[in-house]
Amino acid sequence: MRVFKDLAETIGNTPLIRLRKASEMTGCEILGKCEFLNPGQSVKDRAALHIIRDAVARGLLKPGGTIVEGTAGNTGIGLALVGASMGFRTVIVIPETQSQEKKDMLRLAGAHLVQVPAAPYKNPNNYVRYSGRLAEALARTEPNGAIWANQFDNVANRQAHIDTTGPEVWEQTGGKVDGFICAVGTGGTLAGMGMALQPKGVKIGLADPEGSALHAFYTEGKLEAPGNSITEGIGQGRITANLEGFTPDFSYRIPDTEALPLVFEMLTEEGLCLGGSSGVNIAGAIRMAQEMGPGHTIVTILCDYGNRYQSKLFNPAFLKEKGLPAPRWLDEAPQAIP
Ligand code: PMP
Repeated sequence: MRVFKDLAETIGNTPLIRLRKASEMTGCEILGKCEFLNPGQSVKDRAALHIIRDAVARGLLKPGGTIVEGTAGNTGIGLALVGASMGFRTVIVIPETQSQEKKDMLRLAGAHLVQVPAAPYKNPNNYVRYSGRLAEALARTEPNGAIWANQFDNVANRQAHIDTTGPEVWEQTGGKVDGFICAVGTGGTLAGMGMALQPKGVKIGLADPEGSALHAFYTEGKLEAPGNSITEGIGQGRITANLEGFTPDFSYRIPDTEALPLVFEMLTEEGLCLGGSSGVNIAGAIRMAQEMGPGHTIVTILCDYGNRYQSKLFNPAFLKEKGLPAPRWLDEAPQAIP
């Protein structure tokens, strides 16, 4: 057994698990990459580590320096934990609408949290744009300097997946992988996996939630975002630098009403406690399997752990407020054991 020398070494090399029901219903092998098993409990640990290493290698991030980022939460948690283990301070700008659990975890991880009202990207007070300005200001005032991680347009993000996640999936399947699909937040995972696996003949699919503009872009050439979704960390209204130079082979729009029942079913029937974006990904993998036909192996990402959404996705009152059905077991008061 290997002894890891620090936190960074424990990131990645996550298991690939067969999703039983999805595989049985499609006649395909549908496999989930367990990114929730990273130390920060999400896929974004990989991007956080790569962005930090890249900034250090380029001489931008100096010992004792500050990392500033606008994030829906998971990237911030990764940056804060890796930052703590390497001696960097983190300042995280997060939309108020993100789950309390993610904000609590960010504080525990030592991040300085700046909460801003949710606003579209074109608004100068949007969390991403706000974080860019804050980084510029702190670069001037912090004694050891500050950098903007800029996960949306910093291609060190997708490089994490080109260098690690893509080769891991190829190796774990012995090259027997026909398709890969996931949703987009920054596009780092999807485009990075595409760049690693499309040259090897693997078909790549986009699973896009309602309210995200990418499905319309890749199918009709226009950035349009009808509908909305309660899933956090995914959905995009523009072509980020991470998405540039990449085109998916398949694209599906996945409503919450299709994704959420899968999240609940994964928990009760397969023991996997996942966040909402994993439900979108699994729904996408099922659609792609149905389109490709039986006998194919399709990999997707199990992005983060469900405990991060106890107050939302797993809260019947919240689901009702959003007009989404709660499963009976979640809604009913616990029964006495006979
Ligand atoms: N799922 C969750 C829960 C996330 O936090 C993110 C990142 N924002 C994603 C999926 C999407 O990953 P990426 O940024 O690589 O597109």
